[in-house]
Amino acid sequence: NLTDRLSRLVKTMRGQARITESNVQDMLREVRMALLEADVALPVVRDFIARVKEKALGQEVVGSLNPGQVLVSVVHKELAATMGEGVADINLAAQPPAVILMAGLQGAGKTTTTAKLTKHLIDKRKKKVLTVSADVYRPAAIEQLKTVTKQAGGEWFPSEPNQKPRDIALAALDHAKRHYFDVLLVDTAGRLAIDEALMAEIKELHAAINPVETLFVVDAMQGQDAVNTAKAFKEALPLTGVILTKLDGDSRGGAALSVRQITGAPIKFAGVSEKIDGLEVFDADRHAGRVLGMGDIVALVEQVTQAVDLADAQAMAEKLKTGGFDLNDFLQQIAQMKKMGGLGGLMDKLPQNMMGNKQPGQADMDRAERDMKRMEGILRAMTAKERAKPALLMDGKTKASRKKRIAAGAGVQIQDVNRLLNQYDQMQGMMKKMKGGGLMKMMKKLGG
Ligand code: GDP
Ligand code: MG
Repeated sequence: NLTDRLSRLVKTMRGQARITESNVQDMLREVRMALLEADVALPVVRDFIARVKEKALGQEVVGSLNPGQVLVSVVHKELAATMGEGVADINLAAQPPAVILMAGLQGAGKTTTTAKLTKHLIDKRKKKVLTVSADVYRPAAIEQLKTVTKQAGGEWFPSEPNQKPRDIALAALDHAKRHYFDVLLVDTAGRLAIDEALMAEIKELHAAINPVETLFVVDAMQGQDAVNTAKAFKEALPLTGVILTKLDGDSRGGAALSVRQITGAPIKFAGVSEKIDGLEVFDADRHAGRVLGMGDIVALVEQVTQAVDLADAQAMAEKLKTGGFDLNDFLQQIAQMKKMGGLGGLMDKLPQNMMGNKQPGQADMDRAERDMKRMEGILRAMTAKERAKPALLMDGKTKASRKKRIAAGAGVQIQDVNRLLNQYDQMQGMMKKMKGGGLMKMMKKLGG
């Protein structure tokens, strides 16, 4: 997966604190590959990469994360932001009945999705829903809509293959008005490919019924072709939303990004099964992970957020007073110190300084800075539970295997892990002796 590949790539550049023009190129190539493998269309990939590059350059690399991981998190955020933009649920803000027009290629899932939406609007929004099929080319399609509408608990308005789509829709609209329906869903004819005559027909239909939602239904398995389809429908109709179907298939779902970018319309729902309840609100965050081919992205992003979202020194001081200082606090403390700049080295110097009370020189500070980075890496390689309960690592039964895992995760020796635990122990001892002031105060004094 992408993380693995990027990790391999960045092995050679450990210790680089920033994403720069020179180290970003190779990494972006990997991201580009991942997107293309997910079937995102090439022009869309180019655009996206350019945006990511701009955002990533100069981005600080926090904690034990390497530039590759930070880049992945930038990519993930941008992907999720792009795909997640817009209002998710169906807009019904219209004089009832709110008309919803379903558009898309044949086989995309329009009829199925019409029924799913019917169910959604009935169950979740308590609406009275009418459906009608303007698919006059396939009599079976009209029957299909009748069947699935019944399953959904909605009402179906009959239509005949010899009628004009526009007339069908207007008749249904009239019926809906007279019978106080809240919503009218208009299912349309399938197109196997973009076809001028059919495009003209759906445009005419749209003009006649003035829908509040014009939803573009697209098959997630369509991959690269989704772009051309989306372009054609975007040119013909003022699309207000996208429904991505067949996300239960094994495609990486790159079509989501392509279609979002091309249509400019929000992805409102995802079809996740053939069944009537197989409709979910589109989850951009989760989908971004899928497109990138990585499931563990969420944890990584959390890690980054945690590192950036620094602890409040005040709250920390409180903790110190009460003595409940664990390794999570230790980690936060390090982050806090980094934020405060020059104080960094003091963590390492603390025990000696407490005794000798001498100011550290620049060389000492540099070394301490490096040590602190390593410490942070070790702390982050621990689980939150281990950090909350350091005893697990100091006298627990599983301490050896835990320490081994942590050392491997942080890329250090087991002695380094032990050293950190000793420091923590020492700090705790000191803290017990100190009344009230807390570590922050002590460090401020030492930092002078
Ligand atoms: P239409 O031609 O656009 O109306 O497409 P249909 O609604 O008739 O669907 C075409 C096929 O795709 C049918 O076999 C549906 O059961 C299937 N289908 C639609 N949506 C989904 C989905 O979200 N997941 C799966 N697995 N199949 C779907
Ligand atoms: Mg159909």
